[in-house]
Amino acid sequence: MHVRRDDTVEVMTGEDRGVRARVLSVDPRKCQAIVESVNRVYKHLRRSRRNPQGGRLEIEAPVDLSNLRLVCPKCDKGVRVGVRIDEDGTRHRVCRACGTDLGEV
Ligand SMILES: [Zn+2]
Repeated sequence: MHVRRDDTVEVMTGEDRGVRARVLSVDPRKCQAIVESVNRVYKHLRRSRRNPQGGRLEIEAPVDLSNLRLVCPKCDKGVRVGVRIDEDGTRHRVCRACGTDLGEV
């Protein structure tokens, strides 16, 4: 998984192409993430007792992880991510372009 919660990612496709935003949650099983204010959709609500008018709610729909790239602070853009394994066994994400450490996996 190259993207984690609280990462800053760049969106590669769709209406929000080029947008940078924070990852709110990741679903590893579906390979999808919820990204702040990206891919907003209206969820329409049926009339109910609590909500007698019905209405609509704007929520973020999941984005496929393959459409997101982690932003490297040094390159200042979305980059491909590699994994480096240190001698002590910790795994770090690294920028493929410049080698900057992007945090533990
Ligand atoms: Zn970089």
